[in-house]
Amino acid sequence: MPQIIICHGCKHVLYEGVELKPPDEILQSYDGKCPKCGRKLSLLPIDVEIRPIK
Ligand SMILES: [Zn+2]
Repeated sequence: MPQIIICHGCKHVLYEGVELKPPDEILQSYDGKCPKCGRKLSLLPIDVEIRPIK
């Protein structure tokens, strides 16, 4: 199932694709920060939105 990961701060799309990736891997690839708003991204408490693409 395709998935999308969105920054909670600015709704910037961090990852969008058909490949299901572990969210922590995505955040790591961004150095734990949103490239757009600079907000620190963490999974606990959750700062990103992860949902399947319809
Ligand atoms: Zn952001």
